Amino acid sequence: MPTVDEHTARILAAVAPTRPRRVDLAQAHGCVLAANVRATVAVPSFDNSAMDGYAVRAAEIAEASAQEPVVLPVEADIPAGPGVPAPLRPGAAARIMTGAPLPAGADAVVQLEWTDEGSSSVAVYQAARRGLHIRRAGEDVQPGALVLPAETVIGSAQIGLLAAVNVARPPVHPRPRVAVLSTGSELVEVGSPLRPGQIVDSNSHAIAAAVRECGASVRRLVGVSDDADAFAKSFYGVLAEVDAVVTTGGVSVGAYDVVKEVLTGAGSIRFDQVAMQPGRPQGFGLVEGVPVFTLPGNPVSALVSFDLFVRPALARMRGLPAAGLPAIEVTVGTALRSAPGRRSYVRVRLDGPGPHGRYDAVPVAHPVAAQGSHQLTSLAAAQALLVLPEELTEAPVGTRLTALLLSADSRSILSGMGWTDADVTDDR
Ligand code: AMP
Ligand code: MG
Repeated sequence: MPTVDEHTARILAAVAPTRPRRVDLAQAHGCVLAANVRATVAVPSFDNSAMDGYAVRAAEIAEASAQEPVVLPVEADIPAGPGVPAPLRPGAAARIMTGAPLPAGADAVVQLEWTDEGSSSVAVYQAARRGLHIRRAGEDVQPGALVLPAETVIGSAQIGLLAAVNVARPPVHPRPRVAVLSTGSELVEVGSPLRPGQIVDSNSHAIAAAVRECGASVRRLVGVSDDADAFAKSFYGVLAEVDAVVTTGGVSVGAYDVVKEVLTGAGSIRFDQVAMQPGRPQGFGLVEGVPVFTLPGNPVSALVSFDLFVRPALARMRGLPAAGLPAIEVTVGTALRSAPGRRSYVRVRLDGPGPHGRYDAVPVAHPVAAQGSHQLTSLAAAQALLVLPEELTEAPVGTRLTALLLSADSRSILSGMGWTDADVTDDR
């Protein structure tokens, strides 16, 4: 029975970042840079005004005051736009707008509010130091500068910066394309009426959402019954078009476990009973070079397995370090027991310690009610997965353990969910 760590190691040894490619900026959003991006241009590319006002020589208005303004003829009007303005003659001013190129000779911009806003001549009421309200060429980016290093996740600010340095097609690891396939003859698509014996396919939606959270794109394949030919057709039909496949269900030890039946012997796929709870039956391997994750069917098992095994793999495929959920240290707030020999993940909510709970202190973990592998309510209510290590059988109140934060929101350590004592139950 492989451990969680062994199963993870086997997966991570088999997956690699997607092949780098240049893509349009809009497509690059959410991708990871595959190479350092250096500037070939300066930003700004020319000296320009940071204010609406008047370009002047600072020395010529050094004596300006409200009582004794310095009056200069306005010899030009310079809006933002293409072209090079005429040099500023000594003793003159030029009206200039924000972002407009500074005329040669000018060394300060006096903002409108310090003047009478005149158009043929302008009265300046305040002195300005040299360089005031001038944005120098290269002030933001120098040519040749490292603008964004490889491994940067491209968000809105990075998109803006890439555009500013005139990089139209940055080199990225394209988002991994992931097919999500849920199997089960009992499954119907959400929104359909249920006949006896049917259940709504929640896994494909949950796993698809989790895939998207990982920065990958999803192809959800529905209506795959427990029929070997139907499953094989869906699976092999999509394999060539994706970078990974995630299936749920059909990997237990029962009859009709179609995923196991069809994929046994395919590529390097191996089906294992991983020493964990929930989510014992797992499978992973490369089929025609494509990583295939076969997760168990119980909804909580499927999502927890995703977080443990698929999430770090997708991070690596995106071009990032293979990180899973962020881990924090917590204190056990409710005594727990755990079966020996496997690692358990208990759905918990997190509280600050005591009535004056400080957020910088170690949070206290309490299990949420209903820890069965089929009970999604508790996963939806949980903020973290408390990790009970393999060798641990009892975790009294006060035990320090690791917990995996389930969502960014949970980092704000909310409180207020109901909870009960709960032993860790078996998968089935
Ligand atoms: P299996 O591993 O296929 O035997 O499924 C284990 C349990 O999970 C069964 O109770 C299934 O009905 C349930 N299950 C399997 N697939 C899904 C799914 N896509 N959505 C919700 N429940 C599922
Ligand atoms: Mg099934």
